[in-house]
Amino acid sequence: NNSNRKYNFSAGPAMLPLDVLEEAQKDLVDYKGTGMSVLEMSHRGKDFMSIAAKAEQDFRELVNVPENYKVIFVQGGASTMFASNALNLCPTGKEKADFVTTGAWSKKALGEAKKFCDAGEAATSKESNFSTIPERNTWNLRDGAKFVHICENETIGGVEFKETPVGLPDGAVLVADHSSNYLSKPIDVNKYGIIYGGVQKNIACAGMGIAIIREDLIGNAAPNTPTMLDFSTHSENESMYNTPPCYTWYISGLVFAKLLSEGGLSAMEKRNQEKAKVLYDTIDASAGYYNCPTDLKYRSMMNVPFTLAKGGDVEKQFLKEASDAGFESLKGHRSVGGARASIYNAMPKEGVEALAAFMKDFQSRNA
Ligand code: PLP
Repeated sequence: NNSNRKYNFSAGPAMLPLDVLEEAQKDLVDYKGTGMSVLEMSHRGKDFMSIAAKAEQDFRELVNVPENYKVIFVQGGASTMFASNALNLCPTGKEKADFVTTGAWSKKALGEAKKFCDAGEAATSKESNFSTIPERNTWNLRDGAKFVHICENETIGGVEFKETPVGLPDGAVLVADHSSNYLSKPIDVNKYGIIYGGVQKNIACAGMGIAIIREDLIGNAAPNTPTMLDFSTHSENESMYNTPPCYTWYISGLVFAKLLSEGGLSAMEKRNQEKAKVLYDTIDASAGYYNCPTDLKYRSMMNVPFTLAKGGDVEKQFLKEASDAGFESLKGHRSVGGARASIYNAMPKEGVEALAAFMKDFQSRNA
């Protein structure tokens, strides 16, 4: 009986689709008559190999990954990729890399890259407290830069790129962190050198990252790159150089198959737009009772931060009542306060509608 399930608005790990959990539950002890749980299987046995291969194939179909890109499944999350990107694209450690900082995560990516290459800040929205994205024509990109890094969706600030930046200096590729909007909408992979992100928000449970890497960017890592951070290690070994996070890979595969069967990423985008609209409309129609600090143009479809004009105690009361009513993890990130509703792919529209109704009711009772 799964009727006790909450609407979980956590930024991650996040809600999973109920049918995926139920399918995993059904197969937990004896996976399809193999007499074993996926939790127990050798990653080199034929049962898991076929789970892994099917997941990759479905992912490639879903995202429409071109032939000349590799998909690798890695550990260490997106945070490890911050270092891997620089180590693989800047082999002497002197090459330039330009970062657009639009919030906490792009700042972290820049900080890490600085350890391994000449990483600089090409533009920042710091002056607006990271509530917007600097216009493309203001970016100060350096000739000779090996890559330009963006965070497609800032999970904490709730700002999201609406278009893929183009017109980079010759030889520079776009590297993008998709951790919090992976598989939320169609993307044109050809515009990127590397797309990467952890799976624990919009795809599956924690423990794995997925990177889509243009083939010519693999095999040139700095000589002292740890084996596990060298893209070629994973690309040459089907992401099985060492023991992969098998169960997370399996759950990801269930999600990919589900998304394909439901019309793929265009269908997902349509649903996500509808869901986000319900919340933003509620905030905008509240006559300033609720406020969303982000620039209208870049409002995230995935993470909706908001504050209550009455602040302090009323905000606390709001969060307490929301939690009592079964809306899980609505508290904003400790660095910005307020509330934040993360509404990834697996959040049903009813969850968002229920939250909107709660917000309206709370306002009418505490106006
Ligand atoms: N990038 C973004 C946009 C994130 O939201 C997060 C995690 O919250 C990270 C990177 C770090 O991901 P991980 O925990 O997988 O290292």
